[in-house]
Amino acid sequence: MGLAFKHFLPPLYQQILPDELLRLSIHETKATCDSCIKVPQYQEDLKCCTFHPFLPNYLIGQILLDEKSKPSFITETLQHKISKRQYALPLGIVAPVRYQVEFNELKSQHFGRREDWLCPYYDQTLNRCGIWRNRGSVCTTFYCHSSKGSKGKNFWKVALNYLSYVEMVLCEEALVHLDFSPRQVSDLLGYINRFDGKSSELKTDSMSLKTAKNLWNGYFDDQESFYIKSLEVVKSFDRKQMKESMGDLGLNLTAQMMKVGEIWKT
Ligand code: SF4
Ligand code: SF4
Repeated sequence: MGLAFKHFLPPLYQQILPDELLRLSIHETKATCDSCIKVPQYQEDLKCCTFHPFLPNYLIGQILLDEKSKPSFITETLQHKISKRQYALPLGIVAPVRYQVEFNELKSQHFGRREDWLCPYYDQTLNRCGIWRNRGSVCTTFYCHSSKGSKGKNFWKVALNYLSYVEMVLCEEALVHLDFSPRQVSDLLGYINRFDGKSSELKTDSMSLKTAKNLWNGYFDDQESFYIKSLEVVKSFDRKQMKESMGDLGLNLTAQMMKVGEIWKT
């Protein structure tokens, strides 16, 4: 018995993504995450969470507001990143550049085994994700094994492209609504998936005050409110507006999703 795709996604996507897609009935049984099948290749207390994901601005807003379904350390972690200038950006929170560079260089050797790479949102008491309902696209679509074999793996690959694009469209819409220029948005995008960094970025995980203030475009002193405002922008969207914002590329990616999603109908 499958589970509708909408239950794999952050709840706020239910009002903006196509119904046909949200209704796909997905039945994954091989990746048994509570008892991880990759142990002992991966450490039991790390699993596949030796990765610091990108969290989009509007999902941070949702997590901050979501009192019930998150462990208390999550708010503290987000507030710590904000107060220490650890790459909490208007676009969202990214891993420190030093981490990104090291991860991109060494992930094939150390994935699943580096404790110092453990995701900051991982709940070590319960040995599972602390932000599950609002996790980002990379985490949503990661299945080390699929019940549908290579076709299932391909489905999740296409889903990653689709959901990453959805994230970028929504983050950027929020930034534009909150008065960021195309140039400022472009500067922020430069902090995602880095393979190299300036010496200052590689030396410390905190951004300089000057750089952070510059990137925050006047919102530096109230970053939590900014993330909540980003959420409000996204929540004001309906399916029609979302379709327009996604453009031709979005239509194409949606069509690809429906095509690969056929595997769940058999
Ligand atoms: S997806 Fe991750 S946690 Fe789940 S079984 Fe695979 S490696 Fe383990
Ligand atoms: S966000 Fe959750 S699923 Fe993703 S790496 Fe962190 S703990 Fe794991």
